[in-house]
Amino acid sequence: MAVKDVPDARIEKATDVLVRVTSTNICGSDLHMYEGRTDVEEGKVLGHENLGEVIEVGPAVDRVKVGDQVCLPFNIACGFCKNCERGFTGFCLTVNPGFAGGAYGYASMGPYSGGQAELLRVPYGDFNCLRLPPDAIEKQNDYVMLADIWPTGYHATELAQVEPGDSVVVWGAGPVGLMAAYSAQLRGASKVMLVDHQPDRLALGESIGAIPVDQSAVDAVEAVLGLTGGEGADKGCECVGWQAHDPAGQERPNTTMNSLVQSVRATGAIGVVGVFVPQDPGGPDELSKDGRIAFDMGLFFQKGLRMGSGQANVKRYNRQLRDLIAAGKAKPSFLVSHELTLDQAAEAYERFDRREDGWTKVVLHP
Ligand code: NAD
Ligand code: ZN
Repeated sequence: MAVKDVPDARIEKATDVLVRVTSTNICGSDLHMYEGRTDVEEGKVLGHENLGEVIEVGPAVDRVKVGDQVCLPFNIACGFCKNCERGFTGFCLTVNPGFAGGAYGYASMGPYSGGQAELLRVPYGDFNCLRLPPDAIEKQNDYVMLADIWPTGYHATELAQVEPGDSVVVWGAGPVGLMAAYSAQLRGASKVMLVDHQPDRLALGESIGAIPVDQSAVDAVEAVLGLTGGEGADKGCECVGWQAHDPAGQERPNTTMNSLVQSVRATGAIGVVGVFVPQDPGGPDELSKDGRIAFDMGLFFQKGLRMGSGQANVKRYNRQLRDLIAAGKAKPSFLVSHELTLDQAAEAYERFDRREDGWTKVVLHP
């Protein structure tokens, strides 16, 4: 990771919008490339959680205007393909043919540059800009969470079909898991349990009303069963993926999936938003090469569980979530631990990747 001068992003197609970036986050997903779990071409500008001001629009852009404050869903989507029409903008068939799903500054998700830069080109700008209300600048640390991390956490609860009164267990207390726990509360969960081994992140979860389960101190599955009268949680969310650091360097990272199968009540549902990288060149063994895991299908079947997975379709949720922020009913910026400049990006990556104490979420302000 390095900060360098690169050619300015510019309008390339009539439907493009050009944005001057004012906030751009570092994401746990960037660490898949940073740690080499997934390949990325040298020189790629990363950054898929972006917010800024529109400074130029292509001649075919109708709705978005110069001067608009916008947040950009991390999915780049056309709006008119079979998947986009159905709301599955995370799987757009137009922008990244052959793979499905485009994103800014991300390996294998199209040739698009990211927003950890001063300027960002937004394809299909009318579709891909979420316009923000007049308090956009003042609340930019809240609104920037609409690019990915909050809709993704929300998506986990949607895939798990969280309903009022449900008990919910969330595996992983990174930004995504914290936002899943936050979303479960908003959807009326009666009890939210959050599993991780990082005390600082668990404490943040506790501050929003989740019950922390420190898996370095207890058997997390037993703890969840204990907290739910032995039945298991009604719903579960996987917010770790293939893998975030395993500090011991020992345990296979995919145990989260089987832990969820063990700790969710029979006939419950599981939402998987942690990324299982399809190709892991540096993986520990053959099994890891396709993101394959040793999954306990037998128990999953026996319990009649349901499961949904995949990239979040950010556009499906981000207007409603934006309006909760605007109304003062949500404040996802509670995640933000560091606000830095672009020049500090390399160090920020290093420290976030090491999961140093208190490094929960970094917002870069170019
Ligand atoms: P993160 O790496 O900061 O957080 C992961 C957390 O999981 C850390 O706090 C870590 O301590 C914890 N953890 C590691 N192993 C664990 C285990 N075995 N059990 C419980 N907790 C464990 O990253 P993040 O930004 O929160 O992202 C989490 C995952 O979500 C990543 O895989 C990321 O790629 C993915 N993600 C998916 C989408 C999507 O659209 N589906 C979008 C954004 C991020
Ligand atoms: Zn992200």
